[in-house]
Amino acid sequence: MSKFFSEKYKSLEPYVPGEQPKDTVYIKLNTNESPFPPCEEVIRASKDAASDLQLYPDPDCSELIKKLAEVYGVSTDEITVNNGSDETLNFAFMAYCDKSHPAVFPDITYGFYPVFAQINGIPYEEIPLESDFSININKYKGINKTVFIANPNAPTGIALNLEQIEEILSSNPDNIVVIDEAYVDFGAKSAVKLIHKYNNLLVTQTFSKSRSMAGARLGFGIANKDIIADLNAVKYSTNPYNINRVTAAAGVAALKNESYTIENCKKIEENREYTSENLKELGFICTPSRANFIFAKSPKIGGKELYLELKKRGVLIRHFEKERIKDYNRITVGSKEQMDILLERIKEIL
Ligand code: PMP
Repeated sequence: MSKFFSEKYKSLEPYVPGEQPKDTVYIKLNTNESPFPPCEEVIRASKDAASDLQLYPDPDCSELIKKLAEVYGVSTDEITVNNGSDETLNFAFMAYCDKSHPAVFPDITYGFYPVFAQINGIPYEEIPLESDFSININKYKGINKTVFIANPNAPTGIALNLEQIEEILSSNPDNIVVIDEAYVDFGAKSAVKLIHKYNNLLVTQTFSKSRSMAGARLGFGIANKDIIADLNAVKYSTNPYNINRVTAAAGVAALKNESYTIENCKKIEENREYTSENLKELGFICTPSRANFIFAKSPKIGGKELYLELKKRGVLIRHFEKERIKDYNRITVGSKEQMDILLERIKEIL
């Protein structure tokens, strides 16, 4: 740290992304990426857009927003697009949290939430998950804070149903409730249709997982138009060109081929169930995941040891040091071939 670093950031603990090793070719099951490449149309549209890179992109992302509105059945002023859903989430912390509106989220959830709170000087509360890692919605009812819930949650994969989300929304009419749906396409129910019923709901989603576009950095938020106007005010005061030309074109192309996304999600769900069943046969305990990852622990080997042993054998999974979950690992669901190799390696280790 230099002596020039602002006092306000000195105690910041930055988010630590999953490893992206450059030395060895691993079977990468540690950052919840898709095992499938983007569809042909996305690759072609990206190449075409690259030939205009001397020009700034459209700050309004009109074509992309029009297509998203069509796919999600909302109007164009109910959508904002950002540089990954991380950016939408950060904008939500900036727009809706301060000392009189602290943030609240589970103790075990997406590790970026406390970092967004810290960098923006926002006080926050972490509500412990139940012992089975489920969210007890009663603890969020009328809480009078800005609520952030990943649904399905990460790294547990456990999802709330829409009735439960409605209970949180209706009991907090004076606070924004952000439902982070990064993993919703793998079997959970989206809250998007509730935006017309609750003016305090913001749903965030991403192209990173189900649409195989983590490298493009494209996320979006859906909410009533006043919320979208707030988020766009923050965006236009930060980086109006937050979506580059290649990403915008790739996003439009991906939305024109929804069947590719749906097929891939179906394969991931099948591979998740196949892998969970096999892990359970090996004695693992797995949470009921509705996401593109499995959260599992073995009574025979510690979480860190399994992670290290698998790494030695060319398979990367994600281990978290946090006390409550240190016996677990989060395993991204990949292709059937990748899952078979994972299971083989685990058998060898056990
Ligand atoms: N929310 C959750 C729960 C996540 O796990 C992630 C991925 N790390 C994100 C949001 C952010 O995804 P992205 O910025 O790639 O859209």
